[in-house]
Amino acid sequence: MNDCSPSIPTNTNPANSGADYIGRFAPSPTGLLHFGSLLTAVGSWLHARQHGGQWIIRIEDLDPPREQAGASDAIIRTLANWGMESDQAIWFQSQRLHHYQGYIEQLLDSQKAYRCYCSRKQVATAGLKGPEGWRYNGRCRSRTEQLNQQHCIRFDSRGEDINLDDELQASCTENPEQLYGDFPIQRADGYIAYQLATVVDDQAQHISHVVRGIDLLSSTSRQIRLQQTLGFNTPKYCHLPVVVNDDDQKLSKQTYAQPISEDYEPGTLISVLKLLGANPPKDLQDCDAATLLAWGKDHWKPAELSGKKTLPNTP
Ligand code: GLU
Repeated sequence: MNDCSPSIPTNTNPANSGADYIGRFAPSPTGLLHFGSLLTAVGSWLHARQHGGQWIIRIEDLDPPREQAGASDAIIRTLANWGMESDQAIWFQSQRLHHYQGYIEQLLDSQKAYRCYCSRKQVATAGLKGPEGWRYNGRCRSRTEQLNQQHCIRFDSRGEDINLDDELQASCTENPEQLYGDFPIQRADGYIAYQLATVVDDQAQHISHVVRGIDLLSSTSRQIRLQQTLGFNTPKYCHLPVVVNDDDQKLSKQTYAQPISEDYEPGTLISVLKLLGANPPKDLQDCDAATLLAWGKDHWKPAELSGKKTLPNTP
């Protein structure tokens, strides 16, 4: 199994342009946009526009206990103020639960998923450790009877190794079952899991290119396994560097990343463009967002990106 860490970029050419390209930015409204999520939004927008494609916003609001009231609307308003509006109606995953449920039923019926009654403690006691914590050992896979007790639904992730081809990161091969085990597609608290909902919506929205932070690279082989099992297409992937703070932690609500202003600030957008490898000339420094983004679209070279990006002191 190869290492999937960032390395030499390989592809410099915007390929298969235009009509077929649909990209997306899919924030979870667990907090407001911060500098790191702005970088992902801008990167995915520039990538879509450089290919002459569409860019859509999808709100991944599937985890109400972790969500911040009003964050979805604030994110959408902020993106619009910063020059990025969805080319299609915005989908809210919370309104699509029956679609996800349908696919869960399908996977259960075809025995590609199963009810798992193991507690966290039982999962841990089995002693398998993966890159994202305890790996489930498949104990409930062959259980035939249904119990009247709380359970999650796990996807049987066994199968061939998955090839990961990424526009920016080194190609590698991964086996999701060996790394992550059978992972939940519906949690024990009843909420639909990110991996399933994302795969269902990427297919339903005809997403051709997924441009997102490298922190989600580790989800990609699981998502491809789900796509293959459900007979879905696999989009092209491009995992952007994430922005880290002085302690080398990814900016997020958990690391107390400060929200960006809802109102557009040219200096911050210029910082983002610089981190993305485009250095706007001085005469653009007070420009509106649309002008700066249009400039960025013509000058952005994703292939020159690698590694992590440190939060600038004065974004
Ligand atoms: N909703 C996820 C997040 O905010 C991103 C999902 C994706 O881009 O696949 O981290």
